[in-house]
Amino acid sequence: MAKRGLLVLAAWVGFVAWAAGAPPDPADLVLRGAAVYTVDGARSWAEAVAVSKGRIVFVGANASASPWISKSTKVLDLAGKMVLPAFHDAHVHPVSGGVEALECNLNGLPTQEAILEKIKSYAAAHPQAKWIRGGGWDLTIFPDGNPSKALLDSVVSDRPAYLSASDGHSVWVNSKALALAKVTKATADPPYGRIERDASGVPSGTLREDAADLVAKYLPKRSAKEFADGLAEGLRVANSFGLTSLVEASASEEDLEAYAALDAQGKLTARVLASLYVDTDKGVAEVPRLVALRRKYAKGRVRTNSVKIFADGVLETRTASVLEPYVGFPNDRGKPNLQPAAFQALATALDKEGFQIHVHAIGDRAIRDTFDALEAARKANGPRDSRHHIAHIELFDPADIPRFRRQGVIANFQPLWANGDKYITELTEPKLGPERSRWLYPIGSVLASGGEFAFGSDWSVSSMNPLEGMEVAVTRREISRGPGPVWLLEERITLPDAISGYTIRAAYLDFSDKETGSIEAGKLADLVVLDRNLFEIPPSQIHDAKVLLTLLGGKEVYRAAGF
Ligand SMILES: [Zn+2]
Repeated sequence: MAKRGLLVLAAWVGFVAWAAGAPPDPADLVLRGAAVYTVDGARSWAEAVAVSKGRIVFVGANASASPWISKSTKVLDLAGKMVLPAFHDAHVHPVSGGVEALECNLNGLPTQEAILEKIKSYAAAHPQAKWIRGGGWDLTIFPDGNPSKALLDSVVSDRPAYLSASDGHSVWVNSKALALAKVTKATADPPYGRIERDASGVPSGTLREDAADLVAKYLPKRSAKEFADGLAEGLRVANSFGLTSLVEASASEEDLEAYAALDAQGKLTARVLASLYVDTDKGVAEVPRLVALRRKYAKGRVRTNSVKIFADGVLETRTASVLEPYVGFPNDRGKPNLQPAAFQALATALDKEGFQIHVHAIGDRAIRDTFDALEAARKANGPRDSRHHIAHIELFDPADIPRFRRQGVIANFQPLWANGDKYITELTEPKLGPERSRWLYPIGSVLASGGEFAFGSDWSVSSMNPLEGMEVAVTRREISRGPGPVWLLEERITLPDAISGYTIRAAYLDFSDKETGSIEAGKLADLVVLDRNLFEIPPSQIHDAKVLLTLLGGKEVYRAAGF
């Protein structure tokens, strides 16, 4: 009923706009016969969209689209398929994820056997590689997320091997790599890392957080071409999932060079907001370098007015900074990367330079420290349209949830993680206990409190497909291994809200909501066509929907085979 009324209204608005002036110039492209969910302010529906010179010029009923069609207009009759604003990913690693995908890629492999087989065949196929390098292994496959060097030696013993976990916070190395880096029983853990050891104290093959650097510093430097090829792969994946706007979650200068190189060649098929990586050990001394990087690389489709701070690690390995000790570890509350005073000084200095601050915070203490730091910045510099955001935000003290609205900070969730999979049931909840586990990924509570939120994937940590994230946000159930139990159902949100998290809300986060994120006349023609209407299928099938076409500024950047 409401849907029909809005459709009539949209058509009427389109007709009035046309009737008021001369007949419009013909459009380059008209999509019609579609279920167009516009994500405009009224969340209205339409049937047709006309595109001219990269922008949307008409949204409304099929009949009213006719004046925009001439012989030169390409017309796609979509027979009820769905059209949405192209998706935004508010936290993704297109370069490092793409580089990893082109190396020894262990993402999605379900068993130890499959992982070992892949490493073995990769090593055999790359006899001249000095290192076996790659990653994506799932922590839950190994007891305590702690694979051994012996296991890796069984498939690579002639060369060093360095394989990152899918979450990016642990690395699995073989004996050759430990020997080359001289990491032994005598090596102390670094301040922000942990060397996993056997009962006698000998390094066992897994390195957490900064401990990985003990070996990483011996890795051969990657070439500019490897970075650019990786980014091209990341963009290919993004466009195939309907994504055309990306928040690069942690940009090094090499990453920025890759973006600039592809943009100069006209091959950067996404609009990018790069969050410049901040070395928290250097603190405020980083600011001049970041200001210089911002100036140098803001060009074309790349914007650079954002910085990334890692406030802590991850819960699975007890490196997240938490308010109360981990269960079974009475003296262990993880470790913040920054003490509160240093964090506040850093945030204040960055905010003063006009940067948007993007923080990785997972534990409840890291989240609270982040709110405190952003509050200190605002107090010192005065309020402005900063759109600071906190990503991951896994474990809350519920008292902090209203601070998103109060402080104007955006909650940047990765909704695909908000289900009762093994990461939660085996690696996370046992370390927190039931009472605190209630406050994992409280997406519904943030929404109910009036806070702004946006969604991202954190690819290559997990799938980049926004439809998978939407499904879990709506169902709070695991999708990849069959339907699991519903987890914290009270935190689920509606499909319209889930879609908004990957469109208009994420566009707000990346400062492009005036140009993208909804289908409205005047906005850029960033559009996606899906093979089915998400509102007409059971929520458990959202992830089955397929992207047929992705348009960036009216130009095709992805088309499914056979469409
Ligand atoms: Zn990330």
